[in-house]
Amino acid sequence: MTNQTKYFVKIIGREKAFSIPKEVTASLKGVVSGKMVSRMKHESVQCPVVESEVPFLECFACESFMGRVKGEVHCAGLKGPSRFSTP
Ligand code: SF4
Repeated sequence: MTNQTKYFVKIIGREKAFSIPKEVTASLKGVVSGKMVSRMKHESVQCPVVESEVPFLECFACESFMGRVKGEVHCAGLKGPSRFSTP
């Protein structure tokens, strides 16, 4: 199945780091360096799927995440992170 980019979502930076659930950081071990993780903790996106602000690392680990190009997330728009989805 090939997913197509549905949304281009701008990445926003802020000074204070987001707190990221342990299981998310654990899933990124070996994928992203610790230094990158600390930097990405300061970034977020306004997710169009769950209609709320999602820390970038959770967006990165999201099943709709397709890539990051020039400060934007390419999002397949299928499903947002479960922590933010309303049942
Ligand atoms: S659905 Fe997932 S990949 Fe798309 S913007 Fe939201 S968190 Fe990021």
